[in-house]
Amino acid sequence: MTAAAPFGQMSIRQLQDGLQAKDFSCVEVASSVLDAIEAKDEELHAFLEVTADQAREAARALDARIAEGAFAEAGPLAGIPVAYKDNMNLLGTHTTCSSAMLENYVAPYTATCVQRTLDAGAIPIGKLNMDEFAFGSSTETSSFGPTLNPWDEERVPGGSSGGSAASVAAGLVPVTLGSDTGGSIRQPASFCGVVGVKPTYGAVSRYGVVAFGSSLDQVGPFARSVEDAALAMNALCGHDPLDCTSQPITTDFTANLDDGVKGMRVGTVPAFMEAQGLAAEVKARVEEAASKLEAAGAELVEVELPHAKAAISAYYVLGPCEAFSNLARFDSVRYGYCDPGHKDLGSQYEASRAKGFGPEARRRIMLGSYLLSAGVYEQYYYPAQQVRTLITEDYTRAFEKVDCLILPTAPRTAFKFGEIADPTEMYLSDMFTISINIAGNGGMNMPVGTGVDSGLPVGAQIVSPAFKDENMLRVAAELERIYGQAPVAPAFRAGE
Ligand code: GLN
Repeated sequence: MTAAAPFGQMSIRQLQDGLQAKDFSCVEVASSVLDAIEAKDEELHAFLEVTADQAREAARALDARIAEGAFAEAGPLAGIPVAYKDNMNLLGTHTTCSSAMLENYVAPYTATCVQRTLDAGAIPIGKLNMDEFAFGSSTETSSFGPTLNPWDEERVPGGSSGGSAASVAAGLVPVTLGSDTGGSIRQPASFCGVVGVKPTYGAVSRYGVVAFGSSLDQVGPFARSVEDAALAMNALCGHDPLDCTSQPITTDFTANLDDGVKGMRVGTVPAFMEAQGLAAEVKARVEEAASKLEAAGAELVEVELPHAKAAISAYYVLGPCEAFSNLARFDSVRYGYCDPGHKDLGSQYEASRAKGFGPEARRRIMLGSYLLSAGVYEQYYYPAQQVRTLITEDYTRAFEKVDCLILPTAPRTAFKFGEIADPTEMYLSDMFTISINIAGNGGMNMPVGTGVDSGLPVGAQIVSPAFKDENMLRVAAELERIYGQAPVAPAFRAGE
């Protein structure tokens, strides 16, 4: 990439080298990224809010530190424009979760994951579009209109973190954050051809991120290179006293990126590759990626995850139950849209929740409410938790034999808007990602070329044992050496 590339299309290292050498300032980086968003995002609609004032203020403060010669202490994301999924609180800006329910909600504090990027020197650029309350795989459930896929604007960017994936793929920002409950980082990363990491459950604090399924939700980065994702992981991971599930992680995720895969055991799961619904062009690319890893010195080992086929069924019990309980707080009194003019609380609740939540959110709430009701609970919730244990044990056994797995991320490449109208068909978008949330392991998407039929990005999913996220990043770095760095989507490339 030439020095003339737009700042949003540069890597962290390129930006930091330029800042340190005083080729450009943080204020220049921030202003040019803000200009590019203004010029290009009206159509793409990745951003719901652009935090220009906060960005300029952070950039000015950092420029002052650089002038004092204190760049090295500024942190691993010093000077890097970062944007956040709109379910993460950033003090003084909106957190809408793409829902009419929270249209006017202004964050009274900053989420730990966001704060950690700011502490690492990031320049906060804005808030990103998503499926409403993170329910969906396409951003079509956003109350504020969908985000377009930068590779083909007639197609969805994936979801629920569609804005986070699309803004990186379009080269508007180098790094964004998303959240993943069943696949919402990995699937949009696959559809947009970028790196997307769902860390092990507990690696990143969930404090200040609007909860969907608290036992499944995890925050992670999107980037166009494995090194950028690893640097963001360094900033994000670690213990937070405000989230009792967060763990004291001190790993340097960049440490083994150059080690190669020689001697690593990489698991393949034949049943996944034979799954009904897996597109031939995706299957071919993932198989090719596995054999390229073998050629690079990895040992491929077939493993079985016999209960993974029950993951979608278990997830669509556990997820709605947790969502139903988490969304109870949007009651029009303490939080959320309040429908005016009601004389009794019952009708105010009913009207506010009926108008505030969109159809998919209402579907999940009704499902969860039913599944947790007396007599039904024993038939669904309880067995789903038992299935969860079986799936977790499957992964534990598999990881006795291998250091990581390679799987498809999504069954197909990006689909067209409106193409999948049946909710249960949409739920299958996450058939390869959900079991990883259920077990709690780390999983990430790596672009491995484009499909022969669609010409669109295909992603391979690399899965790590719990708290060994460095394993998948190491394999991903090898894939990046083989395939090259994730490109900016053609229509958004500098000079094109
Ligand atoms: N697509 C899945 C769902 O709709 C996953 C969403 C997510 O990970 N937030 O539940």
